[in-house]
Order: sequence, then C-alpha cells, then structure tokens
Amino acid sequence: MKVGVLGLQGDVSEHLEALEKLGAKGAWVKDLASLAEAEALIIPGGESTTIGRLLEESWLFEMVQQRAKGGMPIFGTCAGLILLAKEAGEQARQTGQRLLGLMDMEVDRNAFGRQRESFEQPIEINGLGQFPGVFIRAPAIRKVFGKCEALAQLDGRIIAARQGKLLATAFHPELTGDLRLHRYFLEQVY
Ligand code: GLN
Repeated sequence: MKVGVLGLQGDVSEHLEALEKLGAKGAWVKDLASLAEAEALIIPGGESTTIGRLLEESWLFEMVQQRAKGGMPIFGTCAGLILLAKEAGEQARQTGQRLLGLMDMEVDRNAFGRQRESFEQPIEINGLGQFPGVFIRAPAIRKVFGKCEALAQLDGRIIAARQGKLLATAFHPELTGDLRLHRYFLEQVY
C-alpha cells in the first residue's frame, strides 16, 4: 500500500521513516499527481495556517476533502489534527483559517499555553495502552460530537480521536520511535 505524507510544510521525513520501518511504502505528497497515487494520507505537524494555505495554493484542499469523503484513510498529527476538525474556535474564526472540516470535533489551537509549550508525558490511549506523548505547541480537542470518538485524554482534555477512517492526535508519535500508532493506522483504521 502506498501512504502519502503531505509534504508542504512540517515534519514529513519522520513520518516517512515510520512508514518504512513498518514495511509500508511512503510517498511525499505535494501536488495533485502525487495525491492521486496515494491510498492513504498523513497530515503532519507544522503550522496549520501555513499548511492550509499551501493546500489551497497547490489545489489540494478540495481534492483531499473529496478523497476523504470517498473513504481515503487520513492520519493527522498536531497541525494535521487542527486541519481535520470542523471547528477551531475563536482564534480560527478571527484569522479566517480554513479547515478541511472532516472530523466531528472542535479543537483549541495551542491549548496547553505558554508554560507547557513543549513537553513529554506518558499518556494512555484506548486500546493501545501507555504511549510516549510528545507535545509541541499542541492543540487539544475541546469536544467531539456526531461520529467522532475520543481515544485519549490529558488533564481533562481530549488529545486523540478517531472517526471511521480518520485518526487524529494532538501529539507527535513520529518523533518517538514508537511505531504503534502508525501501525494502528495501517492495520485498524485503513
Ligand atoms: N500550534 C500549531 C498550529 O496551530 C500546531 C503545532 C504543531 O503541529 N506542532 O498549527
């Protein structure tokens, strides 16, 4: 299977390495042709406003939405989680940030504040157990609704969720060397 990693901005190569270690074929997605060849997609961390803008400039925005509606599995980490959400609160409204709006969840960008801009903490993920959580200016999911299901929480905030073939984490599994979430995406979500 060929898994694309959206490579417009953000931590792309770490995801490609994780895929390779699991025996999946990773491919850099940067235009319509490379997206068309991918069977699944990872949207990495980075800056969600920048990735969103580059998605529009490269004509990928609507195509990612269409492919998702057609059943393409997507895994969004951090900024990727923000882009997958239907709502991103006041900050997104004020900046006019466009979201892919594929998952029934409302998120808060930079939810953990200045004191905890970046931190590592073990977290508990439903069905997977303990996992090393690496948070970098991380968002949190304020609430899930509809068909979206919370998979993990930290300090009373939801930090991972799944809706059918869509998976999102507020943290960065690609930076940990722990491949269980990528494996979960390839084996269970896919
Ligand atoms: N805070 C960033 C945003 O709002 C996300 C940070 C990250 O992806 N590490 O897009």
